[in-house]
Amino acid sequence: MTSLTGKTQLLGVIGHPVEHSLSPLMQNAALAALGLDWVYLPFPVAPGELADAVKGLKVLGVKGFNVTLPHKQAVMPLLAEVSPLARQVGAVNTVLPFDSQWRGTNTDVEGFLAPLLERQKNWAQCRPVILGNGGAARAVVVALAQLGCPTIAAVGRDLAKLEAFHRGWRGLDLSAAVTVHPWEHLPLLLPQTRLLINTTPVGMAPKGDVSPLKLEELAFLSSQALVYDLIYTPRPTRLLREAESLGFPTQDGLEMLARQGAAALGLWLNREEVPVAVMRRALESHFDPPRLSEG
Ligand code: NAP
Repeated sequence: MTSLTGKTQLLGVIGHPVEHSLSPLMQNAALAALGLDWVYLPFPVAPGELADAVKGLKVLGVKGFNVTLPHKQAVMPLLAEVSPLARQVGAVNTVLPFDSQWRGTNTDVEGFLAPLLERQKNWAQCRPVILGNGGAARAVVVALAQLGCPTIAAVGRDLAKLEAFHRGWRGLDLSAAVTVHPWEHLPLLLPQTRLLINTTPVGMAPKGDVSPLKLEELAFLSSQALVYDLIYTPRPTRLLREAESLGFPTQDGLEMLARQGAAALGLWLNREEVPVAVMRRALESHFDPPRLSEG
């Protein structure tokens, strides 16, 4: 437990609701490991109070904060500067001091990329397929464009939303072409990809007994394709369990969660190295607490 003093520096997360956020858990674990007199707090902020909260955090001398639902887009016009990366994603998840104001950026892209780049450096030819076309899918598209993928396929169930997703990249100088597809195209797309990413919440606890793909659909994947599920609970998801049973390598979303947090902490503390292993462990023991031995 961090002991607080008159000099304690504040970080935090704004959201509505914010009680479910795992950021206080992992960020405070990292701050304690670094021996810093800093603390990271949850700040519940109702949508109508966002502008006052953003100003208030500055007045209170907060050193930086994360932004979660429903404020990731709404916070953008309230900041003095928004990074080009966050503009491409269309969402800010990390805010830093900027002179006497705030600057917003997005660390989900870095968080998503970290476990991929640890596996191999070159993903440019992987012809990625994304399931889903919501907020997380946007960060994934920007990340895949950074990897040099020339085309990125997004698959969704609502044609109007898919078309809006496609239009949403206009004028953003994305270095990749985004194609959008109904679910029925999967038998054509899956044999060609080496990277399948689930960005839908299908299979997330407490509804962990479902998968966005049928086993027969998974079997269309080319051998050695990586199946990456952004969901971090349960571990593994049904999708990843079934992919493993068919011999595919898999990646769950916990590392992305830890790495986006580590990237934010690095920015606030202006340090290249932060204790990402401590952050990862804090999350792992939250989802899978060590059992007390009996007797
Ligand atoms: P979102 O904006 O609501 O988007 C969800 C997408 O999934 C939408 O395209 C939605 O399609 C689709 N979808 C929902 N239910 C579906 C179903 N039954 N069948 C097919 N498609 C379905 O949510 P998000 O913010 O992108 O988050 C999505 C998931 O990513 C969540 O599980 C979240 O926990 C995870 N995530 C993880 C991390 C991490 O750090 N690991 C970071 C961000 C997000 P419709 O629009 O047609 O409903």
